[in-house]
Amino acid sequence: MKIICIGRNYADHAKELNNPVPEEPMFFIKPDTALLRNNDPFVIPAFTKDLHYEVEVFVKIKKKGKNISVKFAPQYYSEVGLGIDLTARDVQARCKEKGWPWEKAKAFDGSAPVSETVPLATTGHIDGLSFELKKNGETVQRGYTGDMIYSMDQIINHASKFFTLRVGDLIFSGTPAGVGKLEPGDRLEGYLEGLKMFDFKVR
Ligand code: ZN
Repeated sequence: MKIICIGRNYADHAKELNNPVPEEPMFFIKPDTALLRNNDPFVIPAFTKDLHYEVEVFVKIKKKGKNISVKFAPQYYSEVGLGIDLTARDVQARCKEKGWPWEKAKAFDGSAPVSETVPLATTGHIDGLSFELKKNGETVQRGYTGDMIYSMDQIINHASKFFTLRVGDLIFSGTPAGVGKLEPGDRLEGYLEGLKMFDFKVR
């Protein structure tokens, strides 16, 4: 499986990092080795001094597809989850400077902590979900999927022009404002529509 992520999909987050809002969806991929499950702790790797959290809503693909239209995209998922797009911001800055790809900064081992998924039938429509990230008990990010520049169905439409989607693939939908640095000892809790989705520690 793979994780397809979209960058800069919330205008307030693009702004906080002084990035322009993209004219078309901007994608990157994390491999299956990036997954971190079951609230396992994340150990900060030695190669970064500036590890950031980015909380994101994701869906799980349930049917193989390619060139999926926006209209039919909802048939390709029915479960939603909450994850973090862990980012080595210092490594990313060096990659950006050189015009290099972002994989070293975004696709390393454990860079995608994910919750279990829940049926959209219980949470509500994908375009109307509220979510929240708490660091050490304090809310640091709050988002609403209705604020996304590209909706989940538009993301699936665009991504599937380039990548065949397979059963089990995850589509991360971008992060709202409030991203920040993690230190050893931090505790991260994620909520989707008030449901606690994950709770794990950083070491
Ligand atoms: Zn992200």
